[in-house]
Parts: sequence; structure tokens; C-alpha cells
Amino acid sequence: MGMKTVVIGAGQAAIAFATKLRELDSDAEITLIGDEQSLPYQRPPLSKKYMTGEMSADRLLLRPADWYETNRVNCLTRTAATRIDLETSEIICSDKSVPFDKLLIATGSRPRTLPEGIGGDLPGVYTLRHLADADQIATEMAEGRKAVIIGGGYIGLEAAAVFATKGLAVEVIEMADRILKRVASPDTAAYVKAKHEANGVTIREQTAIKKFVEFDGRFAGVELEDTTLVNADFCVVGIGVLPNVELAADAGIACENGILVDNTTRTSHADIHAAGDVANFEFRDARCRLESVQNAIDQAETAARAIAEEEVDYRPVPWFWSDQYDLKLQIAGLNSGYDQTVVRPGMRDGTQSVWYFMEGKFLAVDALNDPRAYMFGKKILELGRDIAPGQAADASFDLKALVS
Ligand SMILES: Cc1cc2nc3c(=O)[nH]c(=O)nc-3n(C[C@H](O)[C@H](O)[C@H](O)COP(=O)(O)OP(=O)(O)OC[C@H]3O[C@@H](n4cnc5c(N)ncnc54)[C@H](O)[C@@H]3O)c2cc1C
Repeated sequence: MGMKTVVIGAGQAAIAFATKLRELDSDAEITLIGDEQSLPYQRPPLSKKYMTGEMSADRLLLRPADWYETNRVNCLTRTAATRIDLETSEIICSDKSVPFDKLLIATGSRPRTLPEGIGGDLPGVYTLRHLADADQIATEMAEGRKAVIIGGGYIGLEAAAVFATKGLAVEVIEMADRILKRVASPDTAAYVKAKHEANGVTIREQTAIKKFVEFDGRFAGVELEDTTLVNADFCVVGIGVLPNVELAADAGIACENGILVDNTTRTSHADIHAAGDVANFEFRDARCRLESVQNAIDQAETAARAIAEEEVDYRPVPWFWSDQYDLKLQIAGLNSGYDQTVVRPGMRDGTQSVWYFMEGKFLAVDALNDPRAYMFGKKILELGRDIAPGQAADASFDLKALVS
């Protein structure tokens, strides 16, 4: 009998882990414990092509149903893990317990919510994390209706773009002095904001909400801090996520803004690893948590290799993307700690990239409909080369020569 490996959470990281581990170890028993209805699926389309109706639910699935049998991966759906018992090395679920030799915690994250008591639980107020959320929001989408979105981050803005494209009136309310404040430069934010405004979306920045307004037992609008009323038919709250650490923390595993892991994905317990949105790892001498498909896949594959006793060292070049209208935003690297940005005009009109630096060292690039800038920026980071701010800003500077 092979090593018993169990994953709590059956999402993006779990599938990457199971695929890699099966490739490395044909004997391992692999069980995924997932609390959702569906087999594991990808989330990015939920605020993009699934929401517009261009992509069907079966195309969301990360693996077709017969993959699990072929690869001998036991995937439990509708099964919530409620406790990790370290004495008996078992995962306790509502109706069964599952023994493990090695465990991967890949429980992901959940949407942050607004303070209780202001009406955030009214029918008509949604967050967007699960397939079921997207399906419910879809029932609200009809031409001529009005959506209000709380939070100008990627998920809220992607939803805004879908609604506006479908002929809904849309208003985005952002508490900070600009959208995308946590994740992107003022230049990137201004570019994205202009796209939304050109598509008829109203963006209110530096605006806090006081409470949700109820009519007939349902959401009817929001009251802003300055008492302005914004009427709307439904609301999507996209104000960030919190890592699902509770199972780990209750078992005494070290957590701090996520489950703390080393560069082999191991937690403070030798037989327990973590990967994906929930894992907090060391990156450029600081700790971070990444909420991206790239990180979920690469970190989970690292965990599988570590469990298969390969030598590993997780030091990613992060990448991320967002689609809004005809805008393809591609990001390579991580801009945290940046103290300078420069804008590089793209080859085509209206395209550009924003390059981030810390003390003159290149950190990351946001490419706005400029796939070349993304590709070269990513390559520069992967090869460990550097580029000076003046070179990045100079559209005639040959990026290709730098990476060849
Ligand atoms: C709408 C939306 C759009 C996105 N767009 C992009 C994008 O464009 N690009 C990008 O890179 N990333 C995007 N992301 C982020 C990306 O989807 C996540 O970073 C990725 O899914 C993380 O993978 P994970 O395996 O860590 O978590 P998940 O894929 O969330 O999987 C975790 C699973 O664990 C389950 N779970 C939690 N607790 C338990 C428990 N106790 N027992 C059993 N199961 C449990 C959860 O229900 C979930 O199914 C988007 C996310 C959302 C929600």
C-alpha cells in the first residue's frame, strides 16, 4: 500500500498537487476533501467569460469526471473537514474520518465581508468566490437594471465590466482614494478607470458606505457616509479575501496572515504542507501570500515534489492577469515595496506598460494590452537580469537584446 496523502480543499492547488504527485508516485493513495457541490473548477472565469455566458459550467472543470478514476484520485465533494487530529493522524469530517501520512492544506480563502449590522446579509447582496455565487448573480443580470459594486479591486472591476457590457447601469464605490490601490500603481489604476468610464461606469473613490438600504425585505441601494443614497437592484461586495486558516490554527500549526510555510511548502508540522491562497511563504526577504492561479499551481506542485522527497525551493516569478472589456492586463513579478514606476508606451496606440522599481531594481511590470512588454518583463525577472528605469521608459530600448 502506498503513502496516504490527503488534501483538504479541492480547488486549483489540490488538482495541481494530485496531478504532480501521481506523476511522481504511482502507488500513493490520494484523497481530496472538498466542501463544494462540484468537482474542482477554475475560478477566474467566474468574473469573466462564465459570467458573460461565453463559457459553460463543464468547461470550468479543472479535470473531466473520468480523470479521477483513471488517475486513482479519490475526490470527496460536499465534505467539509472539521478538524485535523494530530494524535491519530486523521482528518475528521462531518460523516467520516480520513487517515493520512502526509497532508496538504489547500483551503484557499473566503471573501471579506463588511461589518455586521449594516445590512450586508440582505437578499440581493453578493460576494463572488464560488460557482454558486456566480450563478446567483447571473439571475440578477438583465439589461437596464443597476448594480452597485463595493470595492474597486480586480474582482469587483471585472464584474463591473461584465455588467456594463451587458447593458446594466454600474456604480463602483471605493473607500480608498483610488481603485486598485492595494495592487497597482496610480498609472495602471488611471488607465483602468478610464476604460470603465468610457463604458459608462461611475466610479466613486474615497467614498465609504454607511449601510445597505432595504425595501420589501431586499437590497435596494446603499447609503454613503455623507448620507447620499445610491439606489440599485443588486450589489456585489469585493473587498478582498481572508485565508481559511482555522483548521490549521486549531491544530496548533503556526499561522500569521495564512499558514506559515518554508520554501519547501512545509508548515510547522513536518508531515503537513500548505499551498495556494492560504499559504504564507517567504519571498524577497519578507513574508507574503499570493492569491493567484500561478501560485496555487506552482506551490502545490512544489508540495507534491517535496512529499515525493525531491529537493525543492519555491521561489516563483509571480504572474497574474485580469480581463476587463477589451483590456487584457498582464502582470509579471510582485510590485510590493516599489518606490518608482515608469510608463513605457506600447507599439500600438493606446497600449502601454508600467514598470515597478525599488531602489532602482526592477520588480514587476503591468502590461496593458501589451503582451510583448509582459513577455519581456517576465523573461528579465526569470533570467535574473535587471533593467534601469530609464531603459524601461524608452520605447526604443531593445528589450529583446536584454534577454537574448
Ligand atoms: C471571481 C474570481 C476571479 C479570479 N480571477 C483570477 C485571475 O484572473 N487570475 C488569477 O491568477 N487568479 C484569479 N483568481 C484567484 C484564484 O482563483 C485563486 O488564487 C485560486 O483559486 C487559489 O487556489 P486554492 O487552491 O488556493 O483555493 P481554491 O481554488 O479556492 O480552493 C480551495 C477549496 O477549499 C475548499 N475548502 C475550504 N475549507 C474547507 C474545508 N474545511 N473542508 C473542505 N473543503 C474546504 C473551498 O470551498 C474551495 O473549494 C480569481 C478568484 C476569483 C474568486
